[in-house]
Amino acid sequence: MDQNDIIRRFHSALPAVNEWIENTLEQNRESTVRIIDIGFPRLKTVYPTDLLVKAKVVVVPGKVPYPPISSMGLPEFQQMEAMPFSGITYKDTFFVKEELAQSESLHFHELVHVVQWGQLGVNKFLLAYGVGLMHYGYKDSPLEQMAYALQEGFDRNNLPETIIDLIRVRTEAIWAGVAPLFP
Ligand SMILES: [Zn+2]
Repeated sequence: MDQNDIIRRFHSALPAVNEWIENTLEQNRESTVRIIDIGFPRLKTVYPTDLLVKAKVVVVPGKVPYPPISSMGLPEFQQMEAMPFSGITYKDTFFVKEELAQSESLHFHELVHVVQWGQLGVNKFLLAYGVGLMHYGYKDSPLEQMAYALQEGFDRNNLPETIIDLIRVRTEAIWAGVAPLFP
């Protein structure tokens, strides 16, 4: 795999992915529910209220929406599109499978991504996420690894106190590692 070539293609795909995200969010706008309105008790103890007011969920039957990146010049990600994800986050909105709509743990995980998106903004998030996927695969990609590790802490009731700051600092550190690829 020619790294420079794929980095170039990541960059070129950004407008199409952005457009797909905006369309997907627009098409689902009426189905969104604010996290604060769901009544998960523990989320309110670990996340600030303004985040739970801003963040929204869409419960979907079947597969959560995934951008057709293999037809946006990145054919090596075709397998990713077919993966049965439990949930996925775009900006401040995430999609979860119907079977997992009651999972507070999954909502916790996706909220980590909402904070990551908020920290980096759309383009930096997509580039950092894409490079992580390319180098480490899905579960070991740094932005996922952070979400899974914190989710484990949430499940065991063993989270650091300043979770938002921690997510922001670690997310910036991940971007700092990726940024030199996109001068
Ligand atoms: Zn995740």
